[in-house]
Amino acid sequence: MNNIIVTSIDYILNWSRANSLWPLTFATSCCGIEMMQTVASDNDIARFGSEVFRGSPRQADLLICAGTITYKMAPVLVRLYEQMAEPKYVIAMGACTCGGGMFADTSYSVINGIDKIIPVDIYLPMCPPRPEALLDAIRKLQDKIKKESIIDRKKFLEKHKTKLFDTNSNKEVINEY
Ligand code: SF4
Repeated sequence: MNNIIVTSIDYILNWSRANSLWPLTFATSCCGIEMMQTVASDNDIARFGSEVFRGSPRQADLLICAGTITYKMAPVLVRLYEQMAEPKYVIAMGACTCGGGMFADTSYSVINGIDKIIPVDIYLPMCPPRPEALLDAIRKLQDKIKKESIIDRKKFLEKHKTKLFDTNSNKEVINEY
């Protein structure tokens, strides 16, 4: 009986979380334009409950990282992620965010994938991903949230801890900021 009650509460919580993801307003380069287009009436992200972009990380539970992240930017991204409300989710939008994109082999300053510094739930490569692709990523994240239990989430976050780089020495500093 207890199992039935816990499973039902989990289901209701996950269902409401999945359908009311509030994204943080965060974009660093060209992928951000596609993210803005996703909110416009043509694509209407409101159909999926994610139209409430917030200016403060404390009021957001979805980080759509749209654009290149440099080592200098890394502390800001990690701090914003840490300040977001739990449970929080991340979509890596664009080839640059997922793996460094065109800068992967040519730039000394770009991080080759934000999963090196924060946990990523959904990868959305392409350069740039179209608004339809971002909507598809949000649907996939919703499916993930609906199936995930609190224990699964805890295990995922234990496996993917936030990391930080010292911008002067470029050395990795884990959870020390
Ligand atoms: S993936 Fe392409 S569109 Fe997106 S930030 Fe990189 S270069 Fe710009």
